Amino acid sequence: MIKKYFVDIISVIIGAILLLSPSSKEGVFVLDVGQGDAILIQKDKNQILVDGGGDDTVLYRVGEYMPLGDMEIEIVVLTHPHSDHINGLMYVLERYEVGQVWFTHIDYESSIYEQFLELDVNKVEIEQGSRYFLGEWYIDVLFASDGIYNRDFNANNASIVLELNTDKRKILLMGDAEVEEEEYLLKKGVLEDVDILKVGHHCSRTASSERFLDTVKPEIAICSYGKDNGFGHPHIETIDNLKERNILMLSTAKEGNIEIL
Ligand SMILES: [Zn+2]
Repeated sequence: MIKKYFVDIISVIIGAILLLSPSSKEGVFVLDVGQGDAILIQKDKNQILVDGGGDDTVLYRVGEYMPLGDMEIEIVVLTHPHSDHINGLMYVLERYEVGQVWFTHIDYESSIYEQFLELDVNKVEIEQGSRYFLGEWYIDVLFASDGIYNRDFNANNASIVLELNTDKRKILLMGDAEVEEEEYLLKKGVLEDVDILKVGHHCSRTASSERFLDTVKPEIAICSYGKDNGFGHPHIETIDNLKERNILMLSTAKEGNIEIL
């Protein structure tokens, strides 16, 4: 009798967990992690996480989308080592099994970056120009170099830039790349018309030049920043440049997680 009662309780608990479990839907999710970046790409229950925001919020956000019990993220990308991108990733690397960690090794001093470099995880210095397949989707690495950083020592301009091609759309993820990196990409001729732009550097005026916007021509621009942040993001010049081109601007501060399905 006691045993039966116990089994009933267990099945109620399991039922409740199943009801609460995330949908594990496929798509690209620009996560609301406050001031910072964290973007989850999920396809066939495989995941790529690009940056982790500035604290452990990313763990809760990722948990909203990953299948229950899936504790493996296939690829984690550290676009560049600023705290609003790396701090949250350290929690992710502690909590999840991670197949590969893509990064660019730059000569940048910070204690958390040092800890990252010492971590026993499968770090890969991903090559610019490489392509990674995720089912029938694929990701092109448009930028992965320390070349600009070694000139101006602005870590934003070491940001790994990725273009994701799903079966429905092209999505450009700029990290915190500023105008100097955009100029490099324009000159190299690797930028093309995309559907959605994860805008560089939290919609700061230091990124998204008019020439850049006129080349990538997104329909939707997504700005990732925290409410009332101390940097004044998003800057009015960027908002105006997007408006002038009839680009719909969405932000994590206003919408929360932004889902591209
Ligand atoms: Zn940033």
